[in-house]
Amino acid sequence: MQRHDVLVVGSGPVGIAVARRLAEQGLRVTVLESGAAVTDPPGSHLRNRPELNQNPDSYFPAIQPYLHPVTNATKQAELPGAFQSELEGGWGILWTNNCPRASEFERWDAMTSTEWEHRYVEAETMLQVVPAPAANSLTGNKVRERLHGVLAGMDRSVTDLPFSGRIQPSGEIYYNAPWDMLQAASPEVRKHITIQSGMCVKHLRRKGSRVTSVDVEDANKNVISLEAPAIFLAGGAIKTPRLLHASGITPAALGRGLSFHTLLFGQMLLDNELAAPVDVTDIDPRLWIPPTVESPWHLMLLRDTYPFAPAESIDNQHRLMEIQAFHSVDFQDENALLFDDNEDAAFHFALSQDDRDRMRLLVADVEHLAGQLGHWRRGCEPQWLPFDTAHLAGTCRMDVPGRDGVTDSFGRVHGFGNLFLTTVGLFPVPVAENPTLTAIALALRSCDHFIAGSAGSESIS
Ligand SMILES: Cc1cc2nc3c(=O)[nH]c(=O)nc-3n(C[C@H](O)[C@H](O)[C@H](O)COP(=O)(O)OP(=O)(O)OC[C@H]3O[C@@H](n4cnc5c(N)ncnc54)[C@H](O)[C@@H]3O)c2cc1C
Repeated sequence: MQRHDVLVVGSGPVGIAVARRLAEQGLRVTVLESGAAVTDPPGSHLRNRPELNQNPDSYFPAIQPYLHPVTNATKQAELPGAFQSELEGGWGILWTNNCPRASEFERWDAMTSTEWEHRYVEAETMLQVVPAPAANSLTGNKVRERLHGVLAGMDRSVTDLPFSGRIQPSGEIYYNAPWDMLQAASPEVRKHITIQSGMCVKHLRRKGSRVTSVDVEDANKNVISLEAPAIFLAGGAIKTPRLLHASGITPAALGRGLSFHTLLFGQMLLDNELAAPVDVTDIDPRLWIPPTVESPWHLMLLRDTYPFAPAESIDNQHRLMEIQAFHSVDFQDENALLFDDNEDAAFHFALSQDDRDRMRLLVADVEHLAGQLGHWRRGCEPQWLPFDTAHLAGTCRMDVPGRDGVTDSFGRVHGFGNLFLTTVGLFPVPVAENPTLTAIALALRSCDHFIAGSAGSESIS
């Protein structure tokens, strides 16, 4: 194996953003990924396969084989929808690529507002985010126009939903994945990054305030030890705290105060006058109603993929549009992801009364907005997806004033000089938007902090 200056655990979008940022500074980075490549090229998006691209509703069934329960049914009874994967590219080969920023009122004081802006621009560049991917959608623009007046009266707005990928005028969609993030780097930078798949990091070894090496199990179950001058854990919101726990690093906040998005999905039939005519080529809508203090949920209006079976046939594909509503549950210490001595996970979760109240208001809001645009397709009336589908947060949170976390505001684990966490698990407060862009914004900041602190250090040659 090539000599490295930094080990990164996990090859999802956050791990690859970290690897690229550090390699751009001349560091040699080894990425250890327990999963295997299932797409070609490794780490590219599954959904770019033509059969999945052409039939959006085939997508949920297609990804099921890659989603595994976290633990047994009893231990995850309160969060039956929680799942995990081991894949080269992580969930970055399965995600649906929506990349909104957190609204200003949701951002916490890890950074100044100027730095938040700057980090978001960097993260958008890393993910090649297109701010208005469906600006030319005939249907989308009519929907936007109709909602504009309705929302203005509520001090809310409808805008474009940023997307990591490209949408062709034909409507064909290209989804970015970790592979694309690497391809956008120069050949020189790519030479500094080695990705080793089938390599599961089992344990971090420490001496004083530094991690010195890691125990890694390969695909044949052989365990080797690798030197770790510095280490960034990007294993997602479940396996990152699990690895800390397995390594005896168990600060009080570990796993406590988890949060996630309750997801409401409905598919509607737009009024005929809103939809492009059946014989016209149109890009599907991709619109966003950002959260506000009074309506703190995130609404996406798009034709993406729908998990439930419809009971109504349609005359014009352009009339189909989903409303996906995300609401972040409160961060409460009783809501936790805890591990036993065998590293088996158990979820403890209950909705607060405030969560329930907001969810009721959200449903009423979605019904009201949908009523302005058309009607629910029969069989596709809005329903909550099982808790937690895909957006777990707060399992290894960073400090915020008055609430100690597992890391400081740079993602550096307390008590360690060379151990950083880069994951959605760091979020210490509710953020209703899709989380990956924000996680990458934080991760790039961690990288820069590490590089600044390491200048001249012996560990970086
Ligand atoms: C169907 C779906 C749709 C989604 N859509 C969106 C969206 O539109 N927008 C959005 O922002 N987010 C979306 N998400 C969530 C998004 O995919 C995640 O936020 C993102 O992938 C997190 O990136 P990550 O790199 O932190 O972790 P992951 O992508 O989970 O990658 C972590 C990797 O680390 C590896 N790993 C873990 N532990 C170890 C270990 N000990 N040793 C070695 N390797 C290890 C795992 O095998 C995994 O491959 C979606 C997710 C799903 C499943």
